[in-house]
Amino acid sequence: MSKFTKQEKIQILENLVSIKSVNDNEMEVCKYLQNLLSEHGIKSEIIKISDSRANLVAEIGEGAPVLGISGHMDVVSAGDENKWTYDPFKLTEVDGKLYGRGSADMKSGLAALVLSMIDIHDQGLLTHGKIRLLATAGEEIVGEGAKAFHDKGYMKDVDALVIAEPSQDRIIYAHKGSMDIRVTSHGKASHSSMPQLGFNAISPLVKFVYKADEGFNKFNKNNDLLGNAIMNATIFNGGNQVNSIPEHATSEFNIRTIPEHDNDQFISYFNEILKQVATEETDIEIDTYMSRPPVYTTGQNKLIALAVEMGEKYLNTTLPTEASPGVTDASDLLVDKDENFSFIMYGPGTVSQAHQVDEHVDKEAYLTFVDLFTDFFPAYLNGSK
Ligand SMILES: [Zn+2]
Repeated sequence: MSKFTKQEKIQILENLVSIKSVNDNEMEVCKYLQNLLSEHGIKSEIIKISDSRANLVAEIGEGAPVLGISGHMDVVSAGDENKWTYDPFKLTEVDGKLYGRGSADMKSGLAALVLSMIDIHDQGLLTHGKIRLLATAGEEIVGEGAKAFHDKGYMKDVDALVIAEPSQDRIIYAHKGSMDIRVTSHGKASHSSMPQLGFNAISPLVKFVYKADEGFNKFNKNNDLLGNAIMNATIFNGGNQVNSIPEHATSEFNIRTIPEHDNDQFISYFNEILKQVATEETDIEIDTYMSRPPVYTTGQNKLIALAVEMGEKYLNTTLPTEASPGVTDASDLLVDKDENFSFIMYGPGTVSQAHQVDEHVDKEAYLTFVDLFTDFFPAYLNGSK
């Protein structure tokens, strides 16, 4: 059981929500959490990505195995704040719900991880192994925080990973990857009455999108958990005046990948299409500006079994275990792990609340997850002796 009072737990979430870490400014969250952890004698390290962006890492316990617990510190924009009933950056309680940007995705999950870590430390509940908190920057865009943790070796000795993204109603153990690719065609402007003096940037790009769509049917393998790969051209822009030959045109694609059709295959595919449409006059660039691989684990492990048991004990329900279409930091944290790795996404809130106007989390679910994690993490590690 957590030793924090309900008011303390809610105050800490309120403090986190009030930090506007909208796709930036995770440094302020790091400093807040570092201070909170140090009040309880837990050392942590801020790993700088830029002046305003950073990861935070903290550990309790000794030796192996190592349980990684992870949450992202950034949130998406509140959008049009006039559409919100309550100030998105002031946690507001109404009818048992806590409203605010990040209340579900995922400052409640992050707070529950940190509070449980403090409780486990203060009460001496961990007798075997180590818990490593990996708080990340930039999850909502390209995952630079998770990439930095992986590249600096923080995942090497990690034996199991819990990401506390909103999933109080299901336990996720596999998900698709995601990619954003921008294709830019450069031409030469001229008056549309004299097209021979220019080169139309739109024409080869139309061919590119058409051929990419046409050839996509070869990506027809099906993953037993994740289903099919998905590819869509979602943006197409070109030209700016009706009587001018367009100088630039761009199209963007979002792709959802599976292990059978992974991110590398799509990079090759786009380069292949480029060759097919290229002539002496074309000038086309491909920029893969976001690429996060799929995560495939079998879900056959003690971590997930114990997570289900904890759900029965604390949430009074038998949670389904599933694959999900959305990506998490596991994409970059688990690149070197295989399908037998123990990974779950499990935390307060529901994914349907993520990125919404009037985003909220059930107060009881948030409070319960602090107790659940405080029981779950040491039970997993102590039991692995
Ligand atoms: Zn999230």
